[in-house]
Amino acid sequence: MKIITCEDGAFPEINHLNHDFKTDSLRLRITLDTTLSRDYYINLFPKLLFTVLDIFPNIRKHHCSHGQNSDTLRENSMDHLPSPIKLVGDVIDTVHLFEHLTLELQCLIGQMAQCSGLTCNYWSPENRFDVYIECDDSRIAQFSCNAAIALFNNMLHAEEKMVSTLDAIYLAQTISKAGWQKQEIIKQKLGWSELKFEQAEEHLRTFAFPFRALSAVA
Ligand SMILES: [Zn+2]
Repeated sequence: MKIITCEDGAFPEINHLNHDFKTDSLRLRITLDTTLSRDYYINLFPKLLFTVLDIFPNIRKHHCSHGQNSDTLRENSMDHLPSPIKLVGDVIDTVHLFEHLTLELQCLIGQMAQCSGLTCNYWSPENRFDVYIECDDSRIAQFSCNAAIALFNNMLHAEEKMVSTLDAIYLAQTISKAGWQKQEIIKQKLGWSELKFEQAEEHLRTFAFPFRALSAVA
């Protein structure tokens, strides 16, 4: 999966597509492409879903109010999967799960109590999607999106890299609670080696983690 563009704005044209959206909220729109075959995503989806739910069990509490697909024909039934999100048996399930992971990360990092999202598929090209994430601070939404896409690409293509991405996410959560100014306290609290800490910090910079925005939280 590859991010094409990210843009923040009001995007009022999507208000009617998810009734949980607050009408005047800020949203981040992520346009992304899936980069492999349809079968690849469909076959890997059950494993991806269970891995995500295992690591982020709170996603089980998410509520899906969108995903109306009654007018489309799908040959891949996902009915056997116990899933908290709506499934349609196509590539969009993977992107929709990415949406929920981004929302979850945003709530963990940004301490948001509630936010909604939306996943839309293009008619052409068929492998392109728009994901909308409701946010208070688009920098935190952007970070959450970058971390979620990295984690998904780890799960889909390079599982050995997953642990270091999860370390970075855990560091981001810790910073969001303690504030970046208390770096020494964070290091002590985590009890990580200097190398592990530096690698996680470097990951956060790659994901555009808003260190400065969170510095004031002390
Ligand atoms: Zn959903």
